[in-house]
Amino acid sequence: MADMSQTLIEQVLQARESGQKLNIEGGGTKAFMGRAADTDAGTLKLGEHTGIVEYHPVELIMTARAGTPLAEIEATLAEEGQCLHFEPPRFGENSTLGGTLACNLSGPARPWSGSVRDQVLGIRLLNGRGEHLRFGGQVMKNVAGYDTSRLQAGAMGTLGVITEVSLKVMPRPAMSVTLVQDMVLDDVIHYMNSRAKEPKPITGAAWVDGKVYLRLAGAKSAVEATAEKWTGDVMEEGGAFWQQLQHMQHDFFAGDEPLWRFSVGSTAENPELDGPWLIDWAGSQRWYRGDADMAKLETMAQRAGGQVSLFRGGDRTDEVMHHQSRALKEIQQRLKKSFDPDGIFNPGRLYSWL
Ligand SMILES: Cc1cc2nc3c(=O)[nH]c(=O)nc-3n(C[C@H](O)[C@H](O)[C@H](O)COP(=O)(O)OP(=O)(O)OC[C@H]3O[C@@H](n4cnc5c(N)ncnc54)[C@H](O)[C@@H]3O)c2cc1C
Repeated sequence: MADMSQTLIEQVLQARESGQKLNIEGGGTKAFMGRAADTDAGTLKLGEHTGIVEYHPVELIMTARAGTPLAEIEATLAEEGQCLHFEPPRFGENSTLGGTLACNLSGPARPWSGSVRDQVLGIRLLNGRGEHLRFGGQVMKNVAGYDTSRLQAGAMGTLGVITEVSLKVMPRPAMSVTLVQDMVLDDVIHYMNSRAKEPKPITGAAWVDGKVYLRLAGAKSAVEATAEKWTGDVMEEGGAFWQQLQHMQHDFFAGDEPLWRFSVGSTAENPELDGPWLIDWAGSQRWYRGDADMAKLETMAQRAGGQVSLFRGGDRTDEVMHHQSRALKEIQQRLKKSFDPDGIFNPGRLYSWL
């Protein structure tokens, strides 16, 4: 547990003076995401900037330094019967809180519990001028001004170095049951959506290897009553299944084939693309494995009301995120200029033009 803020500030000021670029690294478990890192840039390491700064279980609020491993945060929360409701994926034991926010990563409960972006109350950010700034706060009622904390979700460190995060935490559900049944891809979107719109304690809906999995979690009486009413077999190892999905450890994710992430309307028909699919978030997040032309996938994603990105593998020197409209591109470039005028942080990691 150490506060490395001063060292980080000095490193940024030095980089600014010498015109050097910096790749920000937390635990280094998400190096595969985004575009390939600039090999001429130095590294700004957050791995030692760790520690839980404040934790108020009664108020459901925690503040931790950005380099704190998720594992440590979740273990501390578990002692109080609490958890991170957005179920962040871990790609290794060094996965950090800051990296999770920077990459906007949320797990299977996302449609019901919100994303990491929704749980963030405030941050500390080191900008490209070496200024250590505080945005937001440590209370849930705090939305005055521009919501800079949430802007960091998915920015992949291009707007600055997240040094500290305050976030909402939640009680763990009293009970959890998983129902499983065989289902073909053609039927699953409609089925998951029809279940998701019922006022029941559902917190997971996924389609994996020809089976649909629904997770019920919450008060014991509500979970038991729904499990009895809905079709599907109760799965013995339900908890293990959702953990595997959360951390992307299922066989579907193994291997080198390009992995595409479609973020689309939950009710949209599945893109007509042969090959293996895995569907999560009741239809909003769809994973596809295979070599494919990005432009073609973008047209399909747009038709389905969303976007596509090359999540892992494939050519990472070209663009890997869905192309932005001219207006959005301009807004992003202006934000970058304001936070990081010299373009020090993570050059080209999100887009070639940022
Ligand atoms: C002095 C002051 C300071 C504040 N500071 C902050 C702050 O720092 N940060 C912050 O986030 N907010 C702040 N607020 C805003 C305030 O706290 C929020 O508006 C409040 O939390 C909303 O509560 P609520 O969702 O329970 O809605 P309510 O207060 O219950 O209702 C809000 C409005 O919605 C209507 N409404 C509610 N339910 C329904 C419904 N089902 N159908 C139709 N209409 C409905 C109500 O009639 C009312 O007009 C402040 C407010 C005041 C007065």
